[in-house]
Amino acid sequence: MQFIDLVAQQARLREGIDQAITRVLDHGRYIMGPEVAELEAALAEFCGADHVVSCASGTDALVMALMVHGVGPGDAVFVPTFTFASTAEAVALLGATPIFVDVDAETFNLDANKLAQAIAEVPNGLRAAGVIPVDLFGLPADYVAIDSVLAGSDLWVIADSAQSFGAARNGASVGSMASMTTTSFFPAKPLGCYGDGGAIIATDPAQVEVLRSIRVHGSGTEKYDNVRIGINGRLDTIQAAILLQKLSVFADEILARQAVADRYAEGLAGAVAVPSTPEGASSTWAQYTIQVDDRAGVIAALQADGVPTAVYYPRPLHQQTAYKEFPIGAGGVEVSERLASSVLSLPMHPYLEPADQDQVIAAVVQAVSR
Ligand SMILES: *Cc1c(COP(=O)(O)O)cnc(C)c1O
Repeated sequence: MQFIDLVAQQARLREGIDQAITRVLDHGRYIMGPEVAELEAALAEFCGADHVVSCASGTDALVMALMVHGVGPGDAVFVPTFTFASTAEAVALLGATPIFVDVDAETFNLDANKLAQAIAEVPNGLRAAGVIPVDLFGLPADYVAIDSVLAGSDLWVIADSAQSFGAARNGASVGSMASMTTTSFFPAKPLGCYGDGGAIIATDPAQVEVLRSIRVHGSGTEKYDNVRIGINGRLDTIQAAILLQKLSVFADEILARQAVADRYAEGLAGAVAVPSTPEGASSTWAQYTIQVDDRAGVIAALQADGVPTAVYYPRPLHQQTAYKEFPIGAGGVEVSERLASSVLSLPMHPYLEPADQDQVIAAVVQAVSR
């Protein structure tokens, strides 16, 4: 049994992917070839957005979105501490200050009340600039609650949807819950390519134009007159071609992931704390994450039963070496610290056979009842 089985997916798509790569090798436009624009249009159609700007990774997507907002030294950007490093890294890279905010114990996503507390007490010398909620494990954050905290202020929101492209909440697709949404096509994400890749979904055409310029070194209308500082943030044509093939089965794969999550929830409820999906929300189940008391013991027992697991994340960002010096928001981060020692992610992918799902369930139930 695999934790994430990319081989099973490749077997399904291999012929189309081989042909798609061959077409790129034949036309030879490896940088910004026709598949890039084709993919951007297909992604926009998939999530019902007006504009998608592809880029080289989910991290670059965050950096580019922050650059559009002119983020720099003196700016405080509120981020959850229970997330992957990129969310805070992009902020720090631009010289701004990430402020770590706690997450909700049920959804693992940014706690809007703690966000309000953190904004009310920004450390001296910093200016509250914006918020980057994360849709952890595939579940969209509560953007309605976050927006109401921000009502009347000029703080912006960038949604870090690296794990949740394809999900929705209250009738809104990921991509339409914030003015800018970033995502990642890292191979292990629900929609992944065979290398690095990412995208920004944006609503404002003026911001889209700036994103496209930043992506290519801050280019203007004349080739050798760059008009702003940018980056080399382009998505490779080959990755775009691969993603077009993968996107063709993605809706079907999301349903298959949901079926696995439903079976897990049914089999595990009562034995362990299973993830909860708020009313009106759907998840892409980038991870299926339970909470257990004796995590090391459960991991060992599952391993002995042939069930692979992973821990996302064993350490909140405020405890990591590179991020220790950045401030923690008023309100504290105790939930994140507790989760970091109790979360455990189970095998999750669209090709997980029912027999394997049952094996996972039986092994977890047994491991926690020892
Ligand atoms: C994966 C991930 C990223 C970064 O994406 P890359 O494509 O690996 O750069 C950012 N934020 C979150 C929450 C992620 O899970």
